[in-house]
Amino acid sequence: MPGRRTIGVDMGGSKLLAGAVDEELSVHYRTRRTLADLDQPTLIDTAVDAVEEAREQAGGDVEAVGFGIPSLIDQRTGTAVIAINLPLADIRFGNVMAERLGLPVFVDNDANMAALAEHRAGAARGAGEAIVLTVGTGIGGGLILGGRLYRGSIGAGGELGHTVIQADGPPCQGNCPNRGCVEVLASGTALAIEATRIAGERPESGLAAVLEDGYPLDGPLITELAHDDGAASSEALELIVTRVGVAIASFVNIFNPEVVVIGGGVMAAGAPLLGPARAEVAARALPPSRDLVSIVPAELGVEAGLIGAACLAFDGLAEAARQ
Ligand SMILES: [Zn+2]
Repeated sequence: MPGRRTIGVDMGGSKLLAGAVDEELSVHYRTRRTLADLDQPTLIDTAVDAVEEAREQAGGDVEAVGFGIPSLIDQRTGTAVIAINLPLADIRFGNVMAERLGLPVFVDNDANMAALAEHRAGAARGAGEAIVLTVGTGIGGGLILGGRLYRGSIGAGGELGHTVIQADGPPCQGNCPNRGCVEVLASGTALAIEATRIAGERPESGLAAVLEDGYPLDGPLITELAHDDGAASSEALELIVTRVGVAIASFVNIFNPEVVVIGGGVMAAGAPLLGPARAEVAARALPPSRDLVSIVPAELGVEAGLIGAACLAFDGLAEAARQ
């Protein structure tokens, strides 16, 4: 008998992934859309279209939809307050989508959704206290405290990427007024900047050759180069992972987590990359927290946001049933 399904939607800065998910968090149908250069009405239409497709192909009864969006969410009103990379501002996104889809809709920040998924079904499974970092174009953070996703007073908490690791550092990305945040110093964008600098210092390196051929130095390419070509690209990645480790040392002191999970496109190579982050935590964090924490790669890859958004929808339905 076909079971219950929810649809999870992960909206990134450039693409959308949607999938039909069952209560065991298996994904039954997946679809994707490109989101580049859309205005707000077209963005909404594109999301509706993807959900309708997943709903038709779900193989079970779809009861709700969860969205992870790259935005600060005011959970008092369901308003997407501001999104860095998508044309969403001051829109009651949940209400708009619920009206269009005729289904209950739940909305949260995309990094929170990745954290929820890793906690329910991935590398932070079973942890009471966990930190999940998603290192991509920006650095997203999610906090699991007391076994639950921690959102702050109105839903805007857990912005771990905006932790300062250099007081007089460069201005942060997007709408952040701060300087020297780990996001600006250790995201995929920072990796490209550091790789370009190192390529300039080492004109003989594979990294410099790739740059000269006109390829943009993004995270996945540099990770691949580090694997094949060695020194210059590895140096750029190590620098970035070291900076992530500086931030993690503070998170370890503040939260005493059992586990810190690191995912996202920049960290696609997983465990072999994590050494410099572990070394920073060992050198900087206080005992006994530093000795008890595990720093591990994410397990759910690109589907983490989608699975987390589907979890959010199941949780929302259960909460509504209790009231
Ligand atoms: Zn910032």
